[in-house]
Amino acid sequence: MREIADFRIAERHARSFLDPEDGQVLGPLGGDTRKLVLETHDIRYAKVGRIHREFRKQGRFFVLGWSLRRTYTKKELEAAELFQLCVRAAFEPSGDECGTEYDDSAGCPRCCFGARQLNELRLDPGSLPRGKDIARTIAYSEIIVSSRLVEALRAQGLTGARFHPVLRKSGRGAIEDWYQLEVTSRPVGVAPVTRFGIDPFDPDEQGEYRCPRGHVAGLSVLSELSVVREDWDGSDLCATKQWVGYRSRNGGAFRPYPLLLVSQKLRRLLGGLKAKGFELEIAPLT
Ligand SMILES: [Zn+2]
Repeated sequence: MREIADFRIAERHARSFLDPEDGQVLGPLGGDTRKLVLETHDIRYAKVGRIHREFRKQGRFFVLGWSLRRTYTKKELEAAELFQLCVRAAFEPSGDECGTEYDDSAGCPRCCFGARQLNELRLDPGSLPRGKDIARTIAYSEIIVSSRLVEALRAQGLTGARFHPVLRKSGRGAIEDWYQLEVTSRPVGVAPVTRFGIDPFDPDEQGEYRCPRGHVAGLSVLSELSVVREDWDGSDLCATKQWVGYRSRNGGAFRPYPLLLVSQKLRRLLGGLKAKGFELEIAPLT
C-alpha cells in the first residue's frame, strides 16, 4: 500500500517554510497556492505536520486543503475482502435545498444521527455530474447511483442495497438516469485501530467533532478504514455503524454520514463496467 497526501498551502507561507522545488505553484498569477504531493513516509510530510501544528497554536493554518489517498498492488486488491467506497464525484445543491424533507426530531439532538428522510430524494437535474455512476451531494452526502449500474447490480443479485427513484426538484417526474442508494445490510462497526480527526495532523483530542453518544467518530477518517469482521453480514454493500462529518449549528447545511463498504464481488463488477465517480481503498477486517 502507498499512502499519498495532497496538500494545498498558501504560496506566501510555502515560500517561507518549504524549498522552491517542493511541489508546484498553482494560481492565475503564478503565485497563489502551492500543491504538494508526498508519500506519508517522506520526511517532508512530518515537516509539514510540524509547521502546521505551530501555525494552529497561533490560530492560523499552514495546510489549507488536504486529501489522503491509498493505492495498492493488484495482488493486494485481489486478496482483500472489503473495500471502502470513497465517493469522489460530488455536487450541489443537496436534496434538502430541492424539497427533500428530513425529520430531525427522530435523530440525536447533538449530531442528528438517526434522522429520517420523509420523501423521495429531490434534486436539480442540471446539477448532476455527467459520465459518473456513483455521486454524492456535498452537504448531506445523499448517494445517487446511475441507472446502468443499478440494472447491473440487480441482474447480478448483489445484496445490501435498495434503490429509490430520484425526483426533479419541482417534484414533477423522476430523473430517469439516477436512483438514490439506501443501504439495507447490517451496519458494520469501525475497528478501534481506525484513526479519525480534523486533519492528518490533528486527531481532535478535545472531541469537538465526536458525538458523546458515539454516533459520529470524527470529522474525517484519517487512516485506512478497518472494520469489525463479526459485524459483516456478508452483504456486497454496507455502511459503517459510526458516521463522520458534522452537523452545522446554524441550520442544517451539513450533516454527518456513514462510510460505505463494498465486497470483492462488487469491486469486480464495478471494474468490469468501468464505473466512475469513486475510488476504492482496502478496508481491513479485524
Ligand atoms: Zn449523536
